[in-house]
Amino acid sequence: MSRPRVVIVGAGFGGLSAARALRQADADVLVVDRHNYHLFQPLLYQVASGLLDPSEIAHPIRSILRGHRNTDVRMAEVEAIELERRVVRTDAGELAYDYLVVAAGAMTNHFGHQDVAAHSIGLKSLDDALALRAMVLAQFERAAECSDEREQHRMLTFVIAGAGPTGVELAGALVELFSHLLPKDFPRLDFSPVRVIVVEAANRVLSAFHPALSARAATVLRRRGVELMLGRTVDHADERGVTLDDGLAIEAATVIWTAGVRASTLGEQLSHVGRGGRVAVGPTLQLAGHEEVQVIGDMAEVRDRGTALPMLAPVAIQQGQQAARNIVAMLAGGRAAAFGYRDKGTMATVGRNVAVVQLGRIRVAGFVGWLMWLFVHLTYIITFRSKAVVLINWGWNYLLEDRPVRLITGASREQPTREPTEAAG
Ligand SMILES: Cc1cc2nc3c(=O)[nH]c(=O)nc-3n(C[C@H](O)[C@H](O)[C@H](O)COP(=O)(O)OP(=O)(O)OC[C@H]3O[C@@H](n4cnc5c(N)ncnc54)[C@H](O)[C@@H]3O)c2cc1C
Repeated sequence: MSRPRVVIVGAGFGGLSAARALRQADADVLVVDRHNYHLFQPLLYQVASGLLDPSEIAHPIRSILRGHRNTDVRMAEVEAIELERRVVRTDAGELAYDYLVVAAGAMTNHFGHQDVAAHSIGLKSLDDALALRAMVLAQFERAAECSDEREQHRMLTFVIAGAGPTGVELAGALVELFSHLLPKDFPRLDFSPVRVIVVEAANRVLSAFHPALSARAATVLRRRGVELMLGRTVDHADERGVTLDDGLAIEAATVIWTAGVRASTLGEQLSHVGRGGRVAVGPTLQLAGHEEVQVIGDMAEVRDRGTALPMLAPVAIQQGQQAARNIVAMLAGGRAAAFGYRDKGTMATVGRNVAVVQLGRIRVAGFVGWLMWLFVHLTYIITFRSKAVVLINWGWNYLLEDRPVRLITGASREQPTREPTEAAG
């Protein structure tokens, strides 16, 4: 008799942790992902700013799950989930399941602004990060040859929409690249027109953090040359740049959108979705009316004392482990248990030597926070080889102020591969 089959959609933080925790389960596990790699998204900005190589933050799923005798991997795009038939439809055929874990994550949200989607770049995928790296470096190559002053200033203006952790970390990394390293590569280029502008709707950066940490991050960013435009939004974007809601036009060749994400549209096939396209699931992570289906990670809206848990890697990882425990319990004829989140805190770097860390009532900012940030991120990186290479790269960058991966590659000069966007449905 064949064993029950567990299908896991997505090999991100949530899906992979579920697959790992099912290693000993008496079931056949199939992990489906559109990519053949697991991506460590928190360090995408370091690929975009030339510090890390893609292979240091992306790892083949097959190699991560090698040795799991009950697990298989399929690279395929999941197109639909048919709950009644218990089938996942992919571009490579149908997959039947007895238990399903949906962990397809999130994607860039332009809130319906087609113009912004067309004239900006996000930072959600490896393709985005490589395209951004190429775009940023190419502006300096072009500016070095440009005799039209206005055009040159436009090339050297970088607008980041959104001052959440991604926008702040990227801004910190870009000013470091522009102030310490690129001037050595372009000794004849005048760097005084270079601008890194962060536009944020809230009246402070890192609004999910305590106001004191936001203030510290803002001070450091400003001191390092980042222009903060707070309490304002990007209203329009075109080939010349952006216009803010107060009418200010900023000519910029590079516009980076980190102002929002929304859950994968696969969620809409499962139930009514709430804020950010997330699927509301109960405390056991199961879909109402379909106990065999669990939704986890960025896709799931799980409430803890009345508040939705944030879209963070530790949430997804812990939910993946809980989903696996639930499946093991159900396989043995038992019931799923409620998920309880152990808050591991949140943190963001603001560039060299400075990070802000918030863990409950404990708040740390500055060098100690930065060391904590380095340690935690290193721990989460998936393979020993990558940990070692990343550590060497960080040390190299710290001591020599060098970012080794400054390549403008042919493939990445093209537009980033777009994940299906909210506009595309
Ligand atoms: C730039 C950036 C920085 C971040 N920094 C931090 C941080 O510092 N700390 C932190 O805790 N969190 C951070 N996050 C958030 C964190 O990465 C997410 O919360 C986490 O990845 C969610 O895990 P997940 O398993 O739900 O989704 P993901 O990890 O996004 O995985 C989803 C997987 O599903 C696959 N997939 C999606 N749709 C389909 C489909 N239709 N068919 C097949 N496969 C599909 C994708 O390829 C992907 O592998 C960051 C996110 C970004 C984008």
